[in-house]
Amino acid sequence: MTAQILNGKEIAAQIRLNLKEKTDRLPAKPHLAIILAGQNEASAIYVRNKQKAAESAGVRTTLYQFASTSSEELISLIKKLNADHDVNGIMVQLPLPYGIDEKAVLRTVNPIKDVDGFHPLNIGLLQNNSEDAMIAATPKGILRLLQETGVKLQGLRALVIGRSQIVGKPAAMLLLNQDCTVTIAHSHSQNLPELVYSSDIVIAACGCPKLIKGEWIKDQAVLIDVGINSIDGKLCGDIDFDAAKEKASFITPVPGGVGPMTIAMLLENTVEAYLKQNAE
Ligand code: NDP
Repeated sequence: MTAQILNGKEIAAQIRLNLKEKTDRLPAKPHLAIILAGQNEASAIYVRNKQKAAESAGVRTTLYQFASTSSEELISLIKKLNADHDVNGIMVQLPLPYGIDEKAVLRTVNPIKDVDGFHPLNIGLLQNNSEDAMIAATPKGILRLLQETGVKLQGLRALVIGRSQIVGKPAAMLLLNQDCTVTIAHSHSQNLPELVYSSDIVIAACGCPKLIKGEWIKDQAVLIDVGINSIDGKLCGDIDFDAAKEKASFITPVPGGVGPMTIAMLLENTVEAYLKQNAE
């Protein structure tokens, strides 16, 4: 049987529509400050997509762009944005150029405006399974896609391939908070095919084109492909989609799966940040 495709593009469009209905009723549009440093072409495209999506969700954006900059300049800007009551969310497009102290920059963002969920306080709150955590957009989008399947997550064996701060680790923590039995694999993990074969859910976030083969997949597994890779100019994920869809029950495409959900969750976080900041 062929897997059902989890259409992140459609689900994200619906989320943006719901956000627009919400923001239309607010006295002011939630305001997201986007910081883009360096001359990374892919980052510039991501930022443009975020701005376009924000508009359709009724979220205002202001772009702060630097061809070249320093940690001090970015930190000083973030401090100003932290103090500005008109700004509800601050996101720093990653990766930052070589030489910039990424950790110091991200730590400067006021946790209540940290719509990317990268501040250590928000990471700690997620670990505490606290409702107050601002959850990083990609892992939050992954969970939303899993919830779309209607599959009961409790007790399932979930494998997260990748342990980055922005995807793998928070995705694993979210799944643990959903009562999954979670394994995290990384570049030193042995027997990846066996780990995949014993998993009901596979979150592939390693950035290795088509690493996960169809024959590794457990029958009826749910597959979320976070990877964005290019082979001969064509985008593909970390999972060999054509082969894996013959085994899985649900699978996300690349593009059109996790990517649009990440942007939708960033906007949802911005609206939530606005509401928190304006609560009496
Ligand atoms: P990182 O490069 O920060 O992390 C990659 C992780 O994968 C590391 O933990 C690494 O292990 C692990 N890894 C690498 N090779 C293997 C392997 N052969 N087997 C098992 N694990 C391996 O990447 P990110 O987490 O930032 O992103 C991962 C992918 O997701 C990329 O393709 C990126 O473009 C994409 N992405 C997509 C987003 C979206 O919205 N769709 C958002 C963010 C990222 P180790 O720690 O040992 O080095």
